[in-house]
Amino acid sequence: MPELPEVETVMRGMAARLAGRRLVRVAVHRADLRWPLPPGLERRLTGAEVLGFRRRGKYILMRLAGGDSLLLHLGMSGRIVIGRAGANAVTAHEHFVVETDDGWRVGLVDPRRFGFVDLVPTAAEDRHRLLAGLGPEPLEAGFSAAVLSAALAGKRTAIKAALMDQGVVAGLGNIYVCEALFRAGISPFRVAATVPGVRAERLVSAIRATLTEAIAAGGSSLRDYAQPNGELGYFQHAWKVYGREGEACERCPGPPCLGIRRVVQGGRSTYYCGRVQR
Ligand SMILES: [Zn+2]
Repeated sequence: MPELPEVETVMRGMAARLAGRRLVRVAVHRADLRWPLPPGLERRLTGAEVLGFRRRGKYILMRLAGGDSLLLHLGMSGRIVIGRAGANAVTAHEHFVVETDDGWRVGLVDPRRFGFVDLVPTAAEDRHRLLAGLGPEPLEAGFSAAVLSAALAGKRTAIKAALMDQGVVAGLGNIYVCEALFRAGISPFRVAATVPGVRAERLVSAIRATLTEAIAAGGSSLRDYAQPNGELGYFQHAWKVYGREGEACERCPGPPCLGIRRVVQGGRSTYYCGRVQR
């Protein structure tokens, strides 16, 4: 599932083609994704000028001159495909597509249909039912050790589960939580309420560094999408623990690491080093 860095990368790729353009054609090929698409979506978007983009957690908001924002979520497997309008007109599982006045088409491809599209007044974006409960943006100034500590106070769940709760901090999922906990030297099984203080400071720094590096990697992958038929959504990234079961971690000093372990925690794979994460 795309997490904050992938969503940020997709949004930047979309913005490169759509910001400042007018939508001359809008097509809905499938009226129900995770939820039904808003009625009249094609009519309401056709002719609209795209002012710009904003990301909130794992959501993309495309702001239109008429005062509405298109809310987009990629779900489990959604991706954005960009190409020249008119060429290769139908892509399998392309449920929603817009074309610009300068001849580009941008489509949402989502075989599993867990993604969705909605319209919300731009002035009320943050009151949308899916955005209203989101916690702070981890890369913005409002996310601090004090804020994180307050959110974790009294929580008896494991810190990993707490960080995946979008109300604690927005945009993190399984991969980047594993990575940030490793970088902070905090066990994924630690009771969340015991993290506040110096550990919370380490964790905030680790989350920021992890996300910033991944966004930079995504940004460099965007160069591949400058040409037609680019596909936005996922990029290769060198994770430190995720997917590295049995390998030595990079933080263990001296005697070799006992190896990165994988356990199933809350139904998801957790990767960690039991030696450096406490
Ligand atoms: Zn290790």
